[in-house]
Amino acid sequence: MAKIKIDIASGTVAKTAVVVGIDLGTTHSLVAYVNPETNQPEIIKDELGSLVPSIIGFQPGQLPQVGYMAKEGLIASPDRTIYSVKRLLGRSYKDVSDVQSLLSYRIIDDDTDSLVKVMVDNAFYNPIELSAIILKSLKQKAEKALNAEVNQAVITVPAYFNDAQRQATRDAGKLAGLDVLRILNEPTAASLSYGLNATEAERVLVYDLGGGTFDVSILAIEDGVFEVLSTKGDTVLGGDDIDRAVMQFWISNDPVLQNLQLLSDRQKLRLMAESAKIQLSGDPHSKYQDCLMVGQVSVDVSLNYQQLQAAANPILQKTQHCIAAALKDAQLKESDIQAVVMVGGSTRYPEIYQLLTSMFPHVQVNNQINPDEVVALGAAIEADVLAGNRSDVLLLDVTPLSLGIETAGGLMDVLIPRNAKIPARVGREYTTSVDGQVNMKIAVFQGEREMVAENRKLGEFVLKGIPAMPAGFPKIEVSFAIDANGMLQVKAKELRSNVSQEIEIKPQYGLTDAQVEKMLLDGFQFAQTDIQMRLQQEAVNEAQQLIYLAQRFLEKNGNMMSEEEIKGTKQRIQELERLLQSQAPKDEILAQVTLLNDFTRPFAERLMDVAVASALKGKGI
Ligand code: ADP
Ligand code: MG
Repeated sequence: MAKIKIDIASGTVAKTAVVVGIDLGTTHSLVAYVNPETNQPEIIKDELGSLVPSIIGFQPGQLPQVGYMAKEGLIASPDRTIYSVKRLLGRSYKDVSDVQSLLSYRIIDDDTDSLVKVMVDNAFYNPIELSAIILKSLKQKAEKALNAEVNQAVITVPAYFNDAQRQATRDAGKLAGLDVLRILNEPTAASLSYGLNATEAERVLVYDLGGGTFDVSILAIEDGVFEVLSTKGDTVLGGDDIDRAVMQFWISNDPVLQNLQLLSDRQKLRLMAESAKIQLSGDPHSKYQDCLMVGQVSVDVSLNYQQLQAAANPILQKTQHCIAAALKDAQLKESDIQAVVMVGGSTRYPEIYQLLTSMFPHVQVNNQINPDEVVALGAAIEADVLAGNRSDVLLLDVTPLSLGIETAGGLMDVLIPRNAKIPARVGREYTTSVDGQVNMKIAVFQGEREMVAENRKLGEFVLKGIPAMPAGFPKIEVSFAIDANGMLQVKAKELRSNVSQEIEIKPQYGLTDAQVEKMLLDGFQFAQTDIQMRLQQEAVNEAQQLIYLAQRFLEKNGNMMSEEEIKGTKQRIQELERLLQSQAPKDEILAQVTLLNDFTRPFAERLMDVAVASALKGKGI
């Protein structure tokens, strides 16, 4: 069942548009979506297939080409053919010195810490622009295949990507004309594809061996929420290294290959090594045979599975060490892992599955989904969730209900409004309403009603140890921070003394979609009466506060006041109390508040101390 999205503010029905998931890979990229007819994620294909090589070719006087068309340029025009852009994303020249030797195009060193640039002919490109070119071609591919507009996407990144790299990915999406709904960790996406959010598995190990990078991540899954416990990897280890090892094997056995002068010959040999690896991975009993023309000389090359194993073994061992390190970081043992997920084209090499089943014999090693596609498929599921089409997974990126605390008189004071983008952080200052108040209860509520009693209580705590001060003196900052997973952290801190207290709450816990919907609808339905109630309550609060202050004022300063002043004040206080008791309408209460205020103002101004002045300003809890 598809949901219709209604923009409540404008009352309009939002257009149905396809939201896609994108795996922006170092070697290959893919785009996927959830087919509304089957509700299943699907890779979007065209006549060239599903994988798009993450390669950009620049030819003079032409628009840049992406994918297989550009891949041919690796040999023909290596200096105009850009690959592995992901390695440069969000990094400075200094950061990329380690990978520079892997690249045959020019990276510019302008002697600063600024972001790295790539030079092609006489033009400069930054990695964000280059990634945007790839993303744009994926967007076009999807639009063509689905015959629909694609303006929104979820894009995946490695779990180890830092903020700058994530931001660069976001920016690349924007530049490509995509509203990036979420940057999703690749291992999380892969686990979503296997539906691990809905299984018993709580600790999952994701093994991702791609073209040029290896990542292993350990995730904790609880109530559908993913947390990365540890991530280890090697940014220069992958299928390419197997290719290089095979190439090295050939070179060491043939004097002609030892003296390859041309870059293009080396590239050809490398592609042959990759073909050999892929062929043998699919059919270990076969034998790869081909020949390379070097000048006039034809060199025969061949490979069998045992030779491939010998070449690849050191690479597998390195990945095994990374797994051990990741387990150690997460303070877990092999036996704590409840599921293993295989990701990346290189895991098609059969020895990887052998390695993982021998390391984790007690669990299922998930490899049924195409390892090239599993990340993009998971991104599509997440995209579908964010588009509001699924209720089985609740991954938030906006707060569905307002979050706030209880203030005097049971009023709801909203700190994070409904539909606020998360993560979000808000702070507000409160004060005490009674002299010498040393404890303050912070009660956290969720919902759209003006009175907390009508909303859902999420939790409460008491800020203790506030130094005794006159009412209005303490400055208590209450801050709400909600993270990308929807966890809410509430903290209260008295700023003069620094005493603080906090709790963590999961606002959506135990709420079904239907309940959220009802709470929203109630909010609208009762909006009118709620506003009236709030205004009434605010009038009562104001009256009570004024009575308290006026009485305290009489006690403290009575000896400096005239008989008349004392009598007049007492009378007006009594009248206000009577109105409160009889639950008079707010206008009458406010009128009497004004009378009392006006009467006391002349001598109050004469005698009033700072405490009273500030108490009148801050909001009391
Ligand atoms: P990335 O995530 O880095 O873009 P991929 O997951 O697309 O990388 O993996 C690309 C790597 O997978 C390449 O090294 C490629 O040679 C390798 N690969 C692809 N198919 C196979 C196969 N059938 N057997 C072994 N390796 C393969
Ligand atoms: Mg990948």
